[in-house]
Amino acid sequence: MNPFWSQIARELSPYTPGEQPRIANLVKLNTNESPFGPSPRAEDAMRAEATESLRLYPDPEAVELRQVLAEHHGVQPAQVFVGNGSDEVLAHAFAGLLKQQQPLLCPDITYSFYPVWAQLFGIILETVPLDDAMGVRVEDYRRQAGAIVIANPNAPTGIALPRATIARLLDEHRDIPVVIDEAYVDFGGESAVPLIADHPNLLVVQTMSKSRGLAGLRVGYALGDAGLIEALRRVKDSFNSYPLGRIAQAGAVASVRDDAWFRESCSRIVATREAMTRELTALGFVVLPSSANFVFARHPSLGGAEFAAALRDRAILVRHFGKPRSAPYVRITVGKPGDVGKLIAAASDILRGR
Ligand SMILES: *Cc1c(COP(=O)(O)O)cnc(C)c1O
Repeated sequence: MNPFWSQIARELSPYTPGEQPRIANLVKLNTNESPFGPSPRAEDAMRAEATESLRLYPDPEAVELRQVLAEHHGVQPAQVFVGNGSDEVLAHAFAGLLKQQQPLLCPDITYSFYPVWAQLFGIILETVPLDDAMGVRVEDYRRQAGAIVIANPNAPTGIALPRATIARLLDEHRDIPVVIDEAYVDFGGESAVPLIADHPNLLVVQTMSKSRGLAGLRVGYALGDAGLIEALRRVKDSFNSYPLGRIAQAGAVASVRDDAWFRESCSRIVATREAMTRELTALGFVVLPSSANFVFARHPSLGGAEFAAALRDRAILVRHFGKPRSAPYVRITVGKPGDVGKLIAAASDILRGR
């Protein structure tokens, strides 16, 4: 260990993002990016912003973007917070809302960044096991807790809870902050945003990385009671007052305004997901019911790590997670139909060779 490291740096166990290799002709189905890219209007808006105007700092409050998002989601601008990817928004929520005297609850199999932030901010995290069908059971959260964070749809399972179930969770925990991470909600989930009006403890976090094809721009946001948003703003202004550059704000605004492009690319991804699920099932895979832009699948006669490695040998990248319950599975991002064709051909080739 380097002698100059602080105690903080020594104790961290950082998140490992999916790899971004520079290999040509790779079928990249490992990080849940959109196969379609952003709205052409967002591209135009970003090009138009890439001028001499960049000598000036961006709007630290991203007023226009928050206004546009507020209209899109039917809330007030004071109920919107934006950040450099939803990872940053979530990190601020961990620091500003989820660190309480009692432990923070989250599912045992979920977004693997949650334990990393918990450790960074000294939050005691208590995991609640998924049920036998790999679903979140909100009844299991009836215990002493200081806060709750749940991804809905969950990652990497893709399984979504209906809004009514989230409402039940919120009604049972009116006195603690509850964060619902909706990174994948646009692919068939039911958003909890309509519950904000009745639940001042609910923060909903969304991202432009997946459904809006803007992973490279880094824009995420949170919606909730103005009091919760104020906590995020206090953390942000103690960390980085300008998390979103001018180009990011311009691109994000134009993306939200192009609803037709957004809906079209989401529905194409959903259609491809359904086709991919049918084809994997026909090959003998067990595919969890996904409401996301990926599927979590296992094959009875093939280990997850083994399958991922065999796909990699065929220039197809998927994500494998090592925890005991997720180890039999691989997470496969829904790509373009052509990419899914290559995946299915490779999978049947791998199975035949056994
Ligand atoms: C991808 C993802 C995020 C982070 O997305 P950003 O690119 O940082 O906006 C957050 N939560 C979950 C569950 C994700 O899968």
